Amino acid sequence: MSNSAIVGINWGDEGKGRMVDLLTEQYDIVVRYQGGGNAGHTVINEKGKFALHLLPSGIFREGVVNVIGNGVALDCENLWKEAEELRGKGVPVTPDNLKISERASLLLPWHRELDGLEEARLADKKYGSTKQGIAPFYSDKYQKKTVMAGELRRPDRLKARLTDILEWKNLILRNVYGAEGYSIEQLMDWVSAWGEKICPYLCDAGKFLRNAVAQDKRILLEAQLGALRDLDYGIYPYTTSSNPVAAYAPVGAGLPSMKIDKVVGVVKAYSTCVGEGPFVCEWFGEEAEELRKAGAEYGAKTGRPRRVGPMDIVATRYGVQVQGATEIALTKLDVLSYLDRIPVCARYRLGGEPTDDFPFPADLPDAEPVTEWLDGWKTDVSGVRKWEDLPDAARKYVEYLEEKLERPIRYVSVGPERDAIILR
Ligand code: GDP
Repeated sequence: MSNSAIVGINWGDEGKGRMVDLLTEQYDIVVRYQGGGNAGHTVINEKGKFALHLLPSGIFREGVVNVIGNGVALDCENLWKEAEELRGKGVPVTPDNLKISERASLLLPWHRELDGLEEARLADKKYGSTKQGIAPFYSDKYQKKTVMAGELRRPDRLKARLTDILEWKNLILRNVYGAEGYSIEQLMDWVSAWGEKICPYLCDAGKFLRNAVAQDKRILLEAQLGALRDLDYGIYPYTTSSNPVAAYAPVGAGLPSMKIDKVVGVVKAYSTCVGEGPFVCEWFGEEAEELRKAGAEYGAKTGRPRRVGPMDIVATRYGVQVQGATEIALTKLDVLSYLDRIPVCARYRLGGEPTDDFPFPADLPDAEPVTEWLDGWKTDVSGVRKWEDLPDAARKYVEYLEEKLERPIRYVSVGPERDAIILR
């Protein structure tokens, strides 16, 4: 087993960062293949607590080379800030352990601004953007109206390209949103400031990964967010603007022909969702507050309280299928220890009929959860490291999920720390 992907099965925030941090030990290269600075992976290890937004989670392991692939929205400002924070805590970030694809497109200064302007225009109809410029960035990328990181090495040619893009972008900024717009001088200052910092890290990621495969190096592909946020397969339009699905990983990483041997789907022991959109098994009031507090469910990037609810089997099974997960890592089992009984949304009721199929996005608001209850364990399991030491009821819950999700649950996480894991 040489190449693996670690992906989110639900709405994101499943604890992928902690799983990648754990599993990077077995890999030589970790590649981030999509998204930008709009979501956070939390990693807790001996160096401290970190919220990674753009850096691959292998950055903490000595000897691991981290790659930011062409599928990522390269937000130089946030990336640099993150790298500086890590360096400040003694984690090296150098051209030896971080490589940026020269084909990654640049998140330009107006992308973040446009995100905010558009969310303000939408007012209460907003999609719940994190305002990190991701939607405007990917729209521009597909319109071929942004530039690749490698172009920073050619400021002479870049100036002509940016002049054309800017002429168009200023029309939108000024005439649609009444914003100020940018001058080419401002932009070239930005290019020269970031070019100097970013260029030493640029590489031909395709060549790098091809060589790595030829040398039997083990590659881990790391996603952001989860299947239900995938642009093509998620709850559109309450999705992100890129593809977190594992099938996109080789494309966004830089080696479209790469074979993925193993897909680890990360599933949380209950459901959480940040932002807008239908969320069938949502809890409200005191019940929700208790779970939110128990799981510390506040956004890593925005600090927003996450919407919470019990495990949603219908959505999770769909996520497993869409991701092609070969195995599951179940996280945050410890959080459910406070409950007398463990609720599970076992299926939906739609149009008066029970269903196990995840509905089409436009039908989803009509779906109602059908809840089943399992026994609680009412014991702190955060210190457990062996399967046989888990209380019976906790093991039954995991086995119930395994049967419903139709994939082996190989890892059970019982705490945020690196060693708080049960291997099965
Ligand atoms: P990601 O984006 O998928 O990496 O997830 P986040 O980092 O947004 O959210 C996961 C949060 O849960 C982080 O604060 C982790 O430290 C924490 N975490 C991960 N696994 C566990 C676990 O098994 N138990 C507990 N209590 N916390 C966990």
